[in-house]
Amino acid sequence: MYFRNEHPTEDQIEWYLFGSLPEPQAENLEEHLLVCHACIDIAEKLAVFVDSMRSTLEQSTPKVSAAGRHI
Ligand SMILES: [Zn+2]
Repeated sequence: MYFRNEHPTEDQIEWYLFGSLPEPQAENLEEHLLVCHACIDIAEKLAVFVDSMRSTLEQSTPKVSAAGRHI
């Protein structure tokens, strides 16, 4: 339970937001966020970043139906 006393890194929080942090660590990080306002601040900042990353990825993904057509 190292996240209780020690802050997770921004990378770890980012992985958590992306859903790619392994289960025991994700659970610890979640518990840490419940009690640590400093890390909640970081998580909120990263969440905005992750959201914009996601929408950028979605926008840059070529749409198959549109890609086949030449207008
Ligand atoms: Zn913390």
